[in-house]
Amino acid sequence: MTQVAEPGSIDVATASPTTVSHWIGGRIVVGTSGRQGPVYDPAIGLQTRSVDFASIDEVGAAVAAAKAAFPGWRATSLSKRTDIMFRIRNIVEARRTELAAHLTAEHGKVPSDALGEIARGLENLEFACGIPSLIKGGFSEQVSGGVDVYQIRQPLGVVAGITPFNFPAMVPMWMFATAIAAGNTFILKPSEKDPSAANFMAELLHEAGVPDGVFNVVHGDKVAVDAILEHPDIAAVSFVGSTPIARYIYETGTRNGKRVQALGGAKNHMIVLPDADIDAAADAAVSAAYGSAGERCMAVSVVVAVGESADPLVEAIKTRLPRIKVGPGTDPESEMGPLVTREHRDKVASYLDSGPAQGADLVVDGRQHVLYQEATGFFLGVSLLDRVSPEMECYRNEIFGPVLEIIRVPTYTEAVGLINDNPYGNGTAIFTRDGGAARQFQFEVNAGMVGINVPIPVPVAYYSFGGWKNSLFGDLHMYGPEGVQFYTRAKIVTSRWPDPGTSKVDLGFPRTR
Ligand code: NAD
Repeated sequence: MTQVAEPGSIDVATASPTTVSHWIGGRIVVGTSGRQGPVYDPAIGLQTRSVDFASIDEVGAAVAAAKAAFPGWRATSLSKRTDIMFRIRNIVEARRTELAAHLTAEHGKVPSDALGEIARGLENLEFACGIPSLIKGGFSEQVSGGVDVYQIRQPLGVVAGITPFNFPAMVPMWMFATAIAAGNTFILKPSEKDPSAANFMAELLHEAGVPDGVFNVVHGDKVAVDAILEHPDIAAVSFVGSTPIARYIYETGTRNGKRVQALGGAKNHMIVLPDADIDAAADAAVSAAYGSAGERCMAVSVVVAVGESADPLVEAIKTRLPRIKVGPGTDPESEMGPLVTREHRDKVASYLDSGPAQGADLVVDGRQHVLYQEATGFFLGVSLLDRVSPEMECYRNEIFGPVLEIIRVPTYTEAVGLINDNPYGNGTAIFTRDGGAARQFQFEVNAGMVGINVPIPVPVAYYSFGGWKNSLFGDLHMYGPEGVQFYTRAKIVTSRWPDPGTSKVDLGFPRTR
């Protein structure tokens, strides 16, 4: 039987299983704002849960809990924090199937994809277990007579993460793993479209021994986000989402004196040179374009076919498409699930009208798929648009769905020019057997992450993730070494232990020589 929660109660036992509430100070806190949003199962197209939308006061309560927890957490020894990070890693690993089930139920991604997302998130937890080495400072002995200088890195305080719908587990792990390992306390504002994974992770962290208040979740929309951006006790904000919101987060957060890293949208190009192995390139393009229904910021959305690679490549891609099994995540055969909402699915499908209207060839139309035509879920089959050109709407926008575009160009120079002229610069890839061409590409392409015969070059956790141009606002990339830098600040200590009676008054500017 569904239990109805008392508004404002902070008792897990009274929380409603059909409502996703906040997690503050180590407990579920039922929302009192009177505002909620719907959560759908995209495979069946029905609302399954509601999510509470936080008020300014509720965000304030989360910040207060995080602020209260900060002194104790930052004073917790590195070995104890490391121990807790290990426990988190082990619990997430052990309970990954349950976590994946939340992703399938609310995002729609198939279980293999959901487990892949969690595996990449786990890498970040594993990286964060190395925090004692990562946070080491530097020491310079005898910079002047009897004077030593050393640098320590200290946590910032309360930090917040605002995350997108497409990676409800991995992107929060990109952020909180490093943030809390470094001694900060954390507030997560996940996407309101698939909020349950955040609460499940909060429970796992609690079980792993994370003290109350170190990790908090507030759900909501712009009201919650603005409250985070304006709260004077939040020192830093990490954001991942679309470009217009990333820009807004960066501008508002920095105006309010916060450290901000805001990752935005993408239009990822994959160049195929005429010497490439066409079958390998076609396999890679299909996997990278349609995996997770194209709802990945590193999805390949444009294949740039150079010269004579175009005809055989389009043919090779086309022959692979009918074999992709589209279906709900509950069907073990499914390789690609539905899109996240009906509205988003319809927006994606609209490019299948505008593309051909502006001159593209619609080689495969995902609207012909039986699930698009008959199912209540938000399905769209895979689609292929050939002979796309840069002025078309389908090229100028991030589609974020299972639509792959082909642009045909005569030379490598035009291919790389297309990428460098594009306002986004997240990921890109080149397929070739020519090492010199690949090296030239890595040298001159304006993008943050480059794949050489690798279509989705998401960096491993000990490098950092970030795009260029409109794909990232801020200085530092996310997770990895730059994540450690983002979530800590340097303190430089100049120290002398003089013998008594050796001091004198000297109004000159301190010199080392
Ligand atoms: P989104 O920008 O709509 O939402 C992201 C977050 O911002 C959510 O938590 C949402 O609640 C909040 N938000 C939405 N509108 C807001 C507003 N007006 N004011 C304040 N906050 C607001 O993004 P999405 O649709 O959830 O995710 C898809 C987008 O994220 C795509 O553009 C994709 O490329 C991008 N993305 C980028 C990366 C990357 O690493 N660069 C990774 C994943 C996703």
